[in-house]
Amino acid sequence: MYTIMIRVLWAKQLSYSLLRNRGQDPESFQLLGQSNHLLAPRTEQSSFSFLLAHRTEQSSISFLLAPRAEQSSKINIDEIGYRTLTIPETLPLLLFVDMDGFRHDYLERLDQTKIPNFRFFIDNGVKARCVRNIFPSVTFANQMTLMTGLYAESHGVVQNNFYDPVFNETFYMEILHQNFESKWFDNGGEPIWATNEKAGHRRHSGVILLPGNLAPIKGVHQKILLNSYLYNTTEEIPYNFRIDTIINWFIDSSNPINFGVLYFPEPDESGHYFGPDSKIIDEKIYELDNALGYLRHKLEVHGLFKKINIIITSDHGMVKYQNKSVNLDTILDRSFYRTVSEGRNVVTQIIPKPGKEDLVYKTLLKHQEGMYVYRKGSQELRKLHFNDNRRIMPIVLEPKKGWIIGNNDTIAKFEDKGLHGYDPQKVSDVRPFFIAYGSSV
Ligand SMILES: [Zn+2]
Repeated sequence: MYTIMIRVLWAKQLSYSLLRNRGQDPESFQLLGQSNHLLAPRTEQSSFSFLLAHRTEQSSISFLLAPRAEQSSKINIDEIGYRTLTIPETLPLLLFVDMDGFRHDYLERLDQTKIPNFRFFIDNGVKARCVRNIFPSVTFANQMTLMTGLYAESHGVVQNNFYDPVFNETFYMEILHQNFESKWFDNGGEPIWATNEKAGHRRHSGVILLPGNLAPIKGVHQKILLNSYLYNTTEEIPYNFRIDTIINWFIDSSNPINFGVLYFPEPDESGHYFGPDSKIIDEKIYELDNALGYLRHKLEVHGLFKKINIIITSDHGMVKYQNKSVNLDTILDRSFYRTVSEGRNVVTQIIPKPGKEDLVYKTLLKHQEGMYVYRKGSQELRKLHFNDNRRIMPIVLEPKKGWIIGNNDTIAKFEDKGLHGYDPQKVSDVRPFFIAYGSSV
């Protein structure tokens, strides 16, 4: 008798606190019954019921409540037709927002009244001084690191463009169809969206255009924005459309996601074209603030805002181009080697022709102005965690801050005013920002 009384009281308190969390007044409902299963009424028109379910790791409980005005008599919950229901809203919800090329100190220089949404997330959450990203500080390598926690040599997406000697083929980020091919990205590492999906229990992931994370990995097919094929580049897809899509995935009635990744291509593009000190960067960040405002609004409308955790961060920062370059044509005969990446990629990988390895390396070593010269297997590359992968070539050149490496053709055509790719340990300007908000923060 005692036990039953306690259970009833506990059930009442729990059901009332759940009602309060949903913005309902508990006094206007009465508790009709409870069950230790997750339940839902069989029909949508179940006029008497307001069913509330609560699930923890260990147990689940459902409460049947009725508005006081409409119901007065007790109803036995076992007499009501029900079906078993898994409640996705009880899963942890996480939204990961990635704003490409967002340097750690950009927000500080802005008129704070023009970034009310960034301010909201900072003032009600946390902001780190910066993120220590990985070498090389380029998009594809760091996006995969953000998702896997691995260095480039371990996840295998070593740069934005890279050569794979087994495939005898080069990946170029600009070639859209390659972005959807698993062989470039499925290298043993497991992105968190795949881990979430593999955990089962109705956990699902959706990724909106995060570079390097569009192809299935480990056999996991995450939700992606397939119609990106309709555009010439993924940059053209409007911000609000991205937000609408990911919100729709979170509230999907059959297979909602509980982990989403949302990618914005700015302020990276403007950072390249106009340089990191340009006022145009500030304008792009005000646009991103508007997008965050729209995101907040949509989360509130759909009752997700109080439940979701949000991380807003980036892959790298931006360095001002100093108009200084290392011209390989003034150092080496082109017939002795070929490059895999250069110019905008900043870090340049060299494949010497057979028999020319020592000659190429020793000649480059004599011309160290504006760059560091590394050989695969060296202590320096091991310290940079940029060594143990077949996609890392025999010689790696790392330009000094604000320099580029190229040749007679590429340097003359180079127009960027901003760059990234440098070692974040040496060059703090390539470190990105980090904000987190939500009930778990
Ligand atoms: Zn970039």
